[in-house]
Amino acid sequence: MRTPNPVARDYYGILGVSRDASDDDIKRAYRKLARQYHPDVNPDPEAQEKFKDINAAYEVLSDDRKRQIVDLGGDPLAPGGGGAGPGGPGGAGPFVGFQDIMDAFFGGAAGGSRGPRPRTRPGADAILRLELDLNETAFGVEAPITVDTAVLCTTCSGAGTAAGTHLATCEACGGRGEVQSVQRTFLGQVVSARPCTVCQGYGTTIPHPCPTCAGDGRVRTRRSLTVKIPAGVEDGMRIRLAQQGEVGPGGGTAGDLYVEIHERTHDVYSRKGDDLHCRVTVPMTAAALGTRLTIKTLDSEEVVDVKPGTQPGSTLRLRARGVPHLRGTGRGDLYVHLDVRTPTKLDADQERMLRDFAKTRGEEVAELTKQGGFFSRMRDAFNGHA
Ligand SMILES: [Zn+2]
Ligand SMILES: [Zn+2]
Repeated sequence: MRTPNPVARDYYGILGVSRDASDDDIKRAYRKLARQYHPDVNPDPEAQEKFKDINAAYEVLSDDRKRQIVDLGGDPLAPGGGGAGPGGPGGAGPFVGFQDIMDAFFGGAAGGSRGPRPRTRPGADAILRLELDLNETAFGVEAPITVDTAVLCTTCSGAGTAAGTHLATCEACGGRGEVQSVQRTFLGQVVSARPCTVCQGYGTTIPHPCPTCAGDGRVRTRRSLTVKIPAGVEDGMRIRLAQQGEVGPGGGTAGDLYVEIHERTHDVYSRKGDDLHCRVTVPMTAAALGTRLTIKTLDSEEVVDVKPGTQPGSTLRLRARGVPHLRGTGRGDLYVHLDVRTPTKLDADQERMLRDFAKTRGEEVAELTKQGGFFSRMRDAFNGHA
């Protein structure tokens, strides 16, 4: 007798049947739950887990030998659980795969709803990265691009057959694209179907493939296109060119081509949305006295006034000198950040003039001692919290 396994799963509980349930009770409970949790019916990930449990419980409780192990406190599906006969875990007996059973329940195979798969299928989308300068993203550009994709084979126009030849009905599957097998199970006969390996499920074969495309109906080639980039696009945006992607197998409708915009970093401007930012250095004297600057924008030159008494970190805003809006009209702004530069390397005259200047303003300036420290306490330098 087996030692009770502390982690044995409650297979009766999973199916919601009592320990003395008959084979029919178990079968009925399983069918009911399987219908409810089948992935085709219930795509919820939790339901899929539950579906696996239900199948496991059924596998165990519908097999007299495995059920006996459970009744003795074991778990025939646990590693080393001792339930499996020849062929390894779960491989015992004539038990067919769960998918076959579900097919039998829902008519997937027996109903013949699948049939041969079409040779002509839609093509895949393609994506291409396009690097642009700020001027190009801001004002738009017609950019030449080169794309490597599958295109329609012009030799066979997508049919895949050599000139003057035709597709042949697959002899292995009689054109159905799948091969059926019948297995005896507890439900009676279960018909299961597998794609035909001779024709890969197409139902037809190509006795004489097109020499250009070897039967695929398409060839890979490099094409040159011009993509019109609208003004105001941003880094990471994608422009869709309908049906410029891969042609499908058998000459199926082409997928779309997506051109993904990558904006190169600009030497002067940084971009935030449709606003631009740049930095301009202003000498301390100019910031104090006021000055006039010529600012080069993306597409113009603007003369702007720096007011007397301009502080470090001040910003000038040039309205509508940023990037044009992609949708609608108008443009973002250009922000000019002013870096006020303190003079360095003063000569003796300049230093004396600055000290005199400070004195006239009543500003206490400590003098550097020969030891490198300062005399003054600089009481007035503290304004409180930053
Ligand atoms: Zn061809
Ligand atoms: Zn076939």
